[in-house]
Amino acid sequence: MSSLASPKFTLFHGAVVNPVNLHHYDAHPHALLCVDAYGDIAWIEEHVPDALVQDVMAKRGLLDSTDVSLIQLKKSEFLMPGFIDTHTHAPQVPNMGAGQQYELLDWLEHVTFPMEKRFEDVKFARETYKAAIRRVIDCGTTTCCYYATLHVEATKILADIIHEYGQRAFVGKCNMNRNCPHDYIEPSTEASIAGTHDVISHIQRLPSLPTPSEHPHADASQLVHPILTPRFAISSTPDLLSALSAIAHGDSSLRIQTHISENVHEIEFTKSLFPECKTYADVYDKYGLLRHNTVLAHAVHLEEEEMEVVRQRGSGISHCPTSNFNLTSGVCKVGELLDRGIKVGLGTDVSGGFSPSILTAIQHASIASKVVSFTPKPDHHPKHKPHFANNALPVSALLHLATLGGAHVCDLGSRVGSFAPGKAFDALVVSVSSRAGNPAIWGVEVDEALGIERGLAGHGGEDHLKRMVEAFMFCGDDRNILRVYVQGRVIGGREWKRD
Ligand SMILES: [Zn+2]
Repeated sequence: MSSLASPKFTLFHGAVVNPVNLHHYDAHPHALLCVDAYGDIAWIEEHVPDALVQDVMAKRGLLDSTDVSLIQLKKSEFLMPGFIDTHTHAPQVPNMGAGQQYELLDWLEHVTFPMEKRFEDVKFARETYKAAIRRVIDCGTTTCCYYATLHVEATKILADIIHEYGQRAFVGKCNMNRNCPHDYIEPSTEASIAGTHDVISHIQRLPSLPTPSEHPHADASQLVHPILTPRFAISSTPDLLSALSAIAHGDSSLRIQTHISENVHEIEFTKSLFPECKTYADVYDKYGLLRHNTVLAHAVHLEEEEMEVVRQRGSGISHCPTSNFNLTSGVCKVGELLDRGIKVGLGTDVSGGFSPSILTAIQHASIASKVVSFTPKPDHHPKHKPHFANNALPVSALLHLATLGGAHVCDLGSRVGSFAPGKAFDALVVSVSSRAGNPAIWGVEVDEALGIERGLAGHGGEDHLKRMVEAFMFCGDDRNILRVYVQGRVIGGREWKRD
């Protein structure tokens, strides 16, 4: 092998944070994690003190230095799975921070649709999407469910840029053929469906990554996937929903994303358009669009029977608390959804949400759960003792929603969202040093200098690492994200070198 060849294995030694379930996450201060040449995790040893690294490498047959690159994390750094944003709108990134005086339907008319219309200009689309996707990646989002606009060519450009930048993603052209502005609406169901087929086949033809032929995951070599995207029931005629249902049933692996039960006026309007359906969820269920790989954004005001049908169909909810607060939509009762066994992830919902960072969604998900906890519920009689309903979400649950929970929502739970042998190495190297430049992070080295002990084990122990994780989740931002990995490749972060 040439000395210039890429190493077969990359080892990370240091603190590793790994979500397990809603109640628990692992925090190993001295782990050794091995990534293979294809970007999959080969193995993890959870307790490897500095003095034993060489011994473990020898045991694993990895002492040939041309085969191995060893990355030693600093005391102020830890490795964690990348964030999964289960709901955002790429064309709305330029609108972040605009329109918070509106509720949903007025905000769409006055803020959102005028911006989205501009993406008929492919040059504008290309430049805007480049800037938008770079920001999303640098915020630590390794998998993202994107809505584009109704434009076929601009949506293909969005998929091309994401593919070029190396992010894992689902990209959908919006289907919207009614109740939209006269100059931003699809002319017919036929045109909407033809454009959908065009975008799907374009994305499926994007070049794949090198992957061993015997890889257990059939789509492991593809990072960018198509996703059916009926914008919401209001903007979709019944024949359009039927045609999308036919496409979905021709390919059970094709994900579906849409909005549900975000705002009370939206719900009333939806019910008036589909009088034969008792609830909002009934509309999607009637057309066969609720299934195991459907991503439903918001679900703020779901009725009891809607929660039950969502659970039965195995669909997932994208909880978008920043957007729900910002557009005065309401507060999603995430704890109740979790207690019912419904899959839940987090979404930024830019630009209903004003931040592209899942960290902001984590912070607002915590606050949303606390708002629910102190809101009186005179008629609430749960059948089972609640774990999460009406309680503040613990750090373990917030971390899970942002990673593994999101992975399950977009039907990628066996591939990403946590670290395990055979899963893809989609990861963040996080720094909670003051040198990261974020004034909200009180750095580890400042603690040490002042003799401040965190946790029973002191510096370097599990408690101390958990304290670092909590500080990052509540005070961190993109300055604390040094490197962003997708499928083993560095694609962003502060230390990523731009061309
Ligand atoms: Zn949305």
